[in-house]
Amino acid sequence: MTFDPETATFLIAGPVRIHPRILRVMSMPSLNHRGDYFHGVVQEIKELLPVLFGTRGAQVVLTGSGTAGLEAMYSSLVPRQGRVLVLSNGNFGERTQEIVRRFAAEVTVVSAPWGQRWSVDAARAELEKGDVVAVCAVHNETSAGVANDLGALAPAVRRSGALFLVDGISSLAGLPLPIEAWGIDAVVAGSQKGLGAPAGLSMVHLSERAVAALHPGSYYLDLGAHLKSLRDNDTPWTPAVPLFLALREALQLLREEGLEARLERTHRLAEASRAAAEALGLKLLPSPAQASDTVTALHNPEGFTDATFRKLLEREYNVLLQGGQGSLKGKIFRIGHMGFADWPDLLVTFAAMERILTKAGRAPARGSALSAIVDRMP
Ligand code: PLP
Repeated sequence: MTFDPETATFLIAGPVRIHPRILRVMSMPSLNHRGDYFHGVVQEIKELLPVLFGTRGAQVVLTGSGTAGLEAMYSSLVPRQGRVLVLSNGNFGERTQEIVRRFAAEVTVVSAPWGQRWSVDAARAELEKGDVVAVCAVHNETSAGVANDLGALAPAVRRSGALFLVDGISSLAGLPLPIEAWGIDAVVAGSQKGLGAPAGLSMVHLSERAVAALHPGSYYLDLGAHLKSLRDNDTPWTPAVPLFLALREALQLLREEGLEARLERTHRLAEASRAAAEALGLKLLPSPAQASDTVTALHNPEGFTDATFRKLLEREYNVLLQGGQGSLKGKIFRIGHMGFADWPDLLVTFAAMERILTKAGRAPARGSALSAIVDRMP
């Protein structure tokens, strides 16, 4: 078998596989983005967004991938004066630093090696100094497959009075993210991860306090301008219309499944992936307790480089996984199991991995990975 993008088992860390219902709704003729039909689409999206965020409030959709949402959040909310705390343990933590430095007067970074959570104690110690005006954190560090412990840090952020600004791009609709309980002021989602729509839109939820704190930063990504237009079911600039149609369908699919059920399914798939990897003798990058439920990051099997292993999966078995990023490039590979990823995807992927390892003489116990998956199926 050779690689065929139309039929591949597609488990990269996002974009994820797109549901056929979502694909179909995008093949509409051009719509007038200032006409009644499209205003109706925007209104439905507004009504559906609380299904994704798990709460109501000020919520906007921006044309632009997740990074546009991050830039919108940081440019509109990072105070121009005072010290901003950035928590970083991977490629997206580094991106946060780079964006925030463009808008903040002073930045302190609490960092951890890629593959480990940042230290809640170290972050608390910074907050206790009393001068932090905003805390910026990635919830799920996609590059290293680590879920950071935002919940443990949340009370200290609230006590400090700092704004709590979160990159939830690979966690929303994949990991529990109780925005209100954790006192999060702004959080960004991407269309191509847990929602399973194509890349190209970002969604931002804002607390009342965040709405009051908005200031003009970027022109195109001005959250104030987007909120104002959305009141009339409109967008300030020409939106990516087919992607809005896709988002509406993806949100409807999420409502039909239910957020809790989506999170539970993602969690079970993650547990099965970790168990199957262990059965094949593959080592997780993070410790199991810190591992993400949306992305499993694994060291390359002994004797294989990233290129040889993933190329074999792709060329021989039509299975697409993802390599490492930044300093982890070539050292790890990642399995994305969010959105519409499901049990057959895991069964095919791990069967192919077992076969590759067996042919290379590294025979794991036959069928052990598949048993680990089957045992965790509902
Ligand atoms: N933040 C996180 C945690 C991500 O996983 C990603 C994408 O993988 C981004 C930011 C960047 O999003 P995009 O590539 O959609 O701009």
